[in-house]
Amino acid sequence: MQIHAVPVLNDNYVWLIEGEQGQCAVVDLGDATTVLAAIDSLKLTVQAILLTHHHTDHTQGIHAFRMRYPVPVFGPALEAQRFVTHPLADGDIAHLPSIGSFSAWLTSGHTLGHISYITEGAAFTGDTLFSAGCGRLFEGTAAMMLASLDRIATLPDATKIYCGHEYTADNLRFAQYAEPDNQAIAQRISAVAEAAASGLPSIPSRLLDERQTNPFLRIRTPSLRQAIEAFAGSQLNDVEAFAMLRRWKDEFDGLSPL
Ligand code: ZN
Ligand code: FE
Repeated sequence: MQIHAVPVLNDNYVWLIEGEQGQCAVVDLGDATTVLAAIDSLKLTVQAILLTHHHTDHTQGIHAFRMRYPVPVFGPALEAQRFVTHPLADGDIAHLPSIGSFSAWLTSGHTLGHISYITEGAAFTGDTLFSAGCGRLFEGTAAMMLASLDRIATLPDATKIYCGHEYTADNLRFAQYAEPDNQAIAQRISAVAEAAASGLPSIPSRLLDERQTNPFLRIRTPSLRQAIEAFAGSQLNDVEAFAMLRRWKDEFDGLSPL
């Protein structure tokens, strides 16, 4: 299995998962033209589309794309009904011959029905787990998002994380602000800047990198927990600490809290 990044829109990634004999699956589809051009130049045959959630920047290319490739659209059973031909509930598996099997995990929080696709050695996490961050809580609760991230964190260290946006550099700025003494964050900031200077994506990361640098996977780390509680001005349980960290980052990013 070979995975190609197709940058679309401002900072979205569409992922092309190439299996045997040029068969491929497309993860999310924020833009048809760019993705069709990439498929042509790689000489791939499209077998299916895998959708993570209903937001426009992940779905608006589907209609135009299916004019040329009328393939099945796997996606969240709980949302995106107008795009999805093959709804997946938590635990369902999309079997794509000569590409692989993809387990749908309900990873709500960013949206209520968001799913992540888990396969051997890789996870397509959409807008749930970002590199060095996580999606904003547009529809779900902090408790949902924490449970979703905790579940992804049960995967092996070497799992590659393919997320929906190139936010890594911005996310690491906040990560370093929240954990100024974390050397792994400092190292990743340099590595990501080097990749960007060569025009390369920062994605995928390994789950191990996320464990070491992503504050949203680290709320139980005592030093970070203390910093979150200092920001809050009180002691917090896990869900409260996660919610407060999310709010802290939104404020840091200059976003209004939801
Ligand atoms: Zn989204
Ligand atoms: Fe998005």
